[in-house]
Amino acid sequence: MKCSNCGNTVNEGDLFCSKCSAKLIWKDNQSSEQDDSPSGFSIAALITGIASVPIVPIVLGGIDIKKINNGLAGRKGLGFDIAGIILGSLTTIAFTITIIAVSV
Ligand SMILES: [Zn+2]
Repeated sequence: MKCSNCGNTVNEGDLFCSKCSAKLIWKDNQSSEQDDSPSGFSIAALITGIASVPIVPIVLGGIDIKKINNGLAGRKGLGFDIAGIILGSLTTIAFTITIIAVSV
């Protein structure tokens, strides 16, 4: 976590920043409300995956998983990302086979 006053990295649970001595406020509501809901990327990954769009859901899902790991996107979106990546992989494989079959 970072100090909201100076940006110094502080330990979770600390009452004051070790650098600027600002009082640290831990927003439990914010983390539970914002972090849990699926992000736009995860929803887009799932929708493009279901819509059988090649490559796109893999990219979107990959970006969102990175964001989840960095705490920037909701954990509930992880299932959407994985579903989108799996569907996107199958579509990409089918797409590639079709292109090869048509070109041969
Ligand atoms: Zn500080």
